[in-house]
Amino acid sequence: MKYWVFALLLLGSSPMWADKAPIALAIHGGAGTILREEMSPELEKAFIEALNQSLDAGYQVLLKGGSSLDAVSASVIVMENSPLFNAGKGAVFTHEGVNELDAAIMDGSTLAAGAVAGVRTVKNPILLARKVMTDSPHVMLTGSGADAFAKTTNLELVGPEYFHTERRWQQLQKLLKAGDKGTKLSEDADKTGSRKEAYRFSSEENRFGTVGAVALDSKGRLAAATSTGGMTNKRWGRVGDAPVIGAGTYANGYCAVSATGHGEYFIRAAVAHDICARVEYLKQPLQAASEAVVMDKLVQMKGEGGVIAVDRQGQVALPFNSKGMYRAYIDANGKRVVAIYRD
Ligand code: ASP
Repeated sequence: MKYWVFALLLLGSSPMWADKAPIALAIHGGAGTILREEMSPELEKAFIEALNQSLDAGYQVLLKGGSSLDAVSASVIVMENSPLFNAGKGAVFTHEGVNELDAAIMDGSTLAAGAVAGVRTVKNPILLARKVMTDSPHVMLTGSGADAFAKTTNLELVGPEYFHTERRWQQLQKLLKAGDKGTKLSEDADKTGSRKEAYRFSSEENRFGTVGAVALDSKGRLAAATSTGGMTNKRWGRVGDAPVIGAGTYANGYCAVSATGHGEYFIRAAVAHDICARVEYLKQPLQAASEAVVMDKLVQMKGEGGVIAVDRQGQVALPFNSKGMYRAYIDANGKRVVAIYRD
């Protein structure tokens, strides 16, 4: 009798969501020197709105019982279609004045993955990455080959004018004038005081930037997706971490991670896989695993940026070692957060 009463009390105190399989979603729109004092109220509002739209798009999929793969795709597409983020429409320019896009997607439940790098003609590179995963025998396609593969699909193709935004174009001109060497802005400014002003970018003009999403669906499947224009003034076919499985994007049965930051560091630190390996092998909680990599390992290497991560319990972690990171999540408890700055 006593036990029945206890059980009934426990049931009664459980919130509604506790009876259901957990679902969770986290997104990012890039990390970097993003400071409140340098952001106009209009731009801040636009970013918050876009983050909310992206979060809603993915979460609706999960609420309807859809897959984590569909959820992360839906969230990323919203940000790829926005000129605000460095992905799809708002992608940065290469040294040659074109836009070369990288993207990857991974299904943690099957370890299937698809990635594209340096594509120029696809409106939504995340969808092409997904086609590589589902409709090709390969994991990663690059450059003109990836664009040729895109022609065999039903995906929307666009001309170079689609990706031309004045803000990104001026960003490239500024760097070209300053004789940019492709290093971090802060390093350039430190080394050459006289060039400091030329290299000075406001928070609105981060030379990096990426979008990404991670999700846990009601069937317990984890997925990760990342899409980016890479680095302003990149050349020689430079590819960052975003499309590199295990670096900027990774998902398995334990966790899903999408990264944003200076790709040259994230590749060498194998960031996304390292976090999931810590969760799987060391049994570290997601937050501890993510922080060990982002706030310790990467900081020691001087690699700037952050990640979004979700585990199979629907816990989320969003550590970043930069000044800010466009980010949002709804965790397994239904808690919703949308944020930009560190505080
Ligand atoms: N990780 C991206 C790259 O290096 C850029 C970014 O996330 O800001 O291409």
